[in-house]
Amino acid sequence: MAGAPQNLFEDGFAAEKLFNQGYSYTYDDVIFLPHYIDFPTDAVELHTKLTKNISLSIPCVSSPMDTVTESYMAVAMAALGGIGILHSNNTPSEQFSLLQSAKSRRIPFVSDFEIKSPSDVIESESDFGSSSVILVTETGNRKSRVMGYVLKSDWVSLKNKDGRVCDYMLKLDFSVPNSYDLDQIAGFLGEKGVKLVPTVRETDGEVVDLMTLEDIERFQELPKRGLPSLASNGEFLVGAAIGTRESDKERLEYLVKGGVNAVVLDSSQGNSIYQLDMIKYIKKTYPELDVIGGNVVTKYQAQNLIQAGVDGLRVGMGSGSICTTQEVCAVGRGQATAVYKVSSVAAQCGVPVIADGGISNSGHIVKALVLGASTVMMGSYLAGSTEAPGAYVVQDGRRLKKYRGMGSLEAMTKGSDQRYLGDKSKLKIAQGVVGAVADKGSVLKFVPYAMHAVKQGFQDLGASSLQSAHDLLRSEVLRLEARTGAAQVEGGVHGLVSYEKKSF
Ligand code: 5GP
Repeated sequence: MAGAPQNLFEDGFAAEKLFNQGYSYTYDDVIFLPHYIDFPTDAVELHTKLTKNISLSIPCVSSPMDTVTESYMAVAMAALGGIGILHSNNTPSEQFSLLQSAKSRRIPFVSDFEIKSPSDVIESESDFGSSSVILVTETGNRKSRVMGYVLKSDWVSLKNKDGRVCDYMLKLDFSVPNSYDLDQIAGFLGEKGVKLVPTVRETDGEVVDLMTLEDIERFQELPKRGLPSLASNGEFLVGAAIGTRESDKERLEYLVKGGVNAVVLDSSQGNSIYQLDMIKYIKKTYPELDVIGGNVVTKYQAQNLIQAGVDGLRVGMGSGSICTTQEVCAVGRGQATAVYKVSSVAAQCGVPVIADGGISNSGHIVKALVLGASTVMMGSYLAGSTEAPGAYVVQDGRRLKKYRGMGSLEAMTKGSDQRYLGDKSKLKIAQGVVGAVADKGSVLKFVPYAMHAVKQGFQDLGASSLQSAHDLLRSEVLRLEARTGAAQVEGGVHGLVSYEKKSF
């Protein structure tokens, strides 16, 4: 390596020394010292592994939370080269439908259009929801023949709005298969000279999306994406969460039928007999399916799950933005320490680590990856995006989306309590809160910018890939320090009367 020999200018600490002093460090507590740059930012490669057998082109995973990952998020994350993990705060058949919907899409597109039947009546503009068009199918649902559409702009100027939809709908007697990519759809619209086309699932004729020329133009303006995460059949890679109860074996059966690519065993304390048994069951019953175990924060916990056969480990306890576990149960670990400790054991066994929770900026992503993780799992960072479930609400002039912990009373009432209760306890104690996050636009826009920022961080450290960052960490070339409270204040914007923070 170019640059000054390390021993002449011994400076900062090696990770092994820093993380062995009895402190539980968060990402904000630590800072890396810059090293030597001999390559451009674009030379940094962020491709990585989610599990032993699944590769990704960016190290990003969306969290299995009911305000973060349903089918739109899963599709967008896979289109970016990462992966989404579908939440399990639903019935097995609802989760299966989310999986089917994600697997049916080739284009990361949020198309929340309403559907009516020809005999329905449109009563007000709100019947259009957030879309500018209503699709008309024979029976008024996605599973029947497409017959026409009504544009909001046409309906608004209709003199007599009392008639049935069939009296004024425009006829639509064409569609394209859901396997079409953006260029094929654009080509179809151009050749036919039409403004919109439904995409229809080839296997059963169900309507998947409604694509318009404006949608295609919007797509073309998005930042360039890396390689998408695709399975060998061309479908997007999609993961899903399950629990560790007997009933989850039935849920798993559904997911396997739906073509799930990895399952995450969703427990806040993963080192339990329930999880060890589930790992063994899955590896025996579905040897081809990759299993991610967790959550863990210690070497001992990690070792147990690795021995049971996990293909990936999810790390974090109490570091999530909506989480109150450390307050309620007095158990957990600072996330920087947890990621470093678990990764040091997992790396020896070739098990990739997912740093889960506590990511609120691109610097945190750099820290998680350099400290040994292969991917980061994010909740709050993605929850304000267009692709997250739920509608925006306007509060004090700001557009917000609801974001809630899966251990909040509200979410547990819907069923997610098994993540937080090792046994079948009847008393529900919250380990999370319900809140809101600001509108961030599409993940297709802000995640590529965040990845570029991460590359700049790697470049400053002289690491041209995740592997090279991990090599620098373990060879002790990489140096770091703990930041005092004042150093953290200094490291942020300070001393200004006012400022505007724009990231890109
Ligand atoms: P964030 O990215 O918002 O900081 O954290 C998301 C992570 O927090 C999730 O992936 C999950 O591991 C964890 N989490 C989600 N909901 C809860 C909760 O209610 N309580 C706790 N303790 N952790 C949660």
